[in-house]
Amino acid sequence: MYKIDDKGFFGKYGGAYIPEILYKCVHDLQEQYLPIIESDEFKKEYHALLKDYVGRPTPLYHAKKMSEKYGCTIYLKREDLNHTGAHKINNTIGQVLLAKKMGKKRIIAETGAGQHGVATATVCALMDLECEIFMGKTDVERQHMNVERMKMLGAKVHPVTTGNMTLSDACSEAIRDWCCHPENTYYMVGSTMGPHPYPDIVAKMQSVISEEIKWQLKEKTGRDYPDYLIACIGGGSNAAGTIYHYIDNPNVKIVLAEAGGHGIDTDYTAATIHCGQEGIIHGARTLVMQDDDGQIKEAFTISAGLDYPGIGPMHADLSDKGREKVLAINDDEAIYAGYELTRMEGIIPAIESAHAVAALKKLNFKKDDIVVLTVSGRGDKDIETYLKNKGMAREYGNF
Ligand SMILES: *Cc1c(COP(=O)(O)O)cnc(C)c1O
Repeated sequence: MYKIDDKGFFGKYGGAYIPEILYKCVHDLQEQYLPIIESDEFKKEYHALLKDYVGRPTPLYHAKKMSEKYGCTIYLKREDLNHTGAHKINNTIGQVLLAKKMGKKRIIAETGAGQHGVATATVCALMDLECEIFMGKTDVERQHMNVERMKMLGAKVHPVTTGNMTLSDACSEAIRDWCCHPENTYYMVGSTMGPHPYPDIVAKMQSVISEEIKWQLKEKTGRDYPDYLIACIGGGSNAAGTIYHYIDNPNVKIVLAEAGGHGIDTDYTAATIHCGQEGIIHGARTLVMQDDDGQIKEAFTISAGLDYPGIGPMHADLSDKGREKVLAINDDEAIYAGYELTRMEGIIPAIESAHAVAALKKLNFKKDDIVVLTVSGRGDKDIETYLKNKGMAREYGNF
């Protein structure tokens, strides 16, 4: 099911819709990425860094109280325990090695909540590369701590003042910068989005998540696959990593949680798979939230990391084909689920990840079902949002 053709299409989605000036550098990347990332030398360096620098393998934790509550066996894949606090670094470690092997000296990236910006600035510090991050001015103000982390790591942060001044505008600005410096600059895309080959590169870098789930589950249950995989979905990278090695296994049900915001029947939503139509965004054909004139609409959600009006093309394809069931989780449901996981298991999840936790309520499990849910990141960055909205968490919010 996970198949791209030689032009980078997953079914009818994907491809590379890029300005002429980027043609050569995108084409070079298309030609070079597979031979590089499949080489023994690359794999050795990548896995050594994941182990000793990032802290992999991340635990697969049996959440006993949550299991009892939902009437099944729930394992949490703890991507929140990675260095820098989320799954993003699995990808930036891989892409920085790729950039180095391609002889690039300067790295640029977009960021929303700042998690990808921090993960990028981190690996650039590690590898002594120049690093410039594009971030919407609104997000710069909302995510002050991550901005300071990036600066401390040596990155230059450019506040973007076009459009709504959020993630989508930061992506556009990064692409504009790339057009001005196509020769020496590597654009480090943070999710399974952008022109081919980025969706494939990012999915492969994150596939370490399901590679580990397989052997960890086998060790714990005697079986290397679960009945359900659950993850949240913004651009789609932690979801892609979670499902990568299971897409062709029909025994595994895939349930993804996108950000419903105030609800999919309102204008305040980021649920692209529910509300989007076919279009082109940041170099790829995919589902896009757009108005009747085809203008891209602003995404709205309490979670800065899911605040994107597009979706990775592989997920547009897999959801069209019915391989993925996608639920829209609203802000209040995510906040509640974040408090629930915190109180029941002592794990404060990122608000993005809390969307995945909220999906548990919407599924009917059988007693012997095995469920693996990816906790994509830790909630430290979100404490203020949790506090501001604790009224949504009813019994947990009384403190
Ligand atoms: C960025 C981010 C996401 C959303 O991105 P995907 O590419 O869809 O995984 C989810 N969770 C956390 C913690 C993030 O930082």
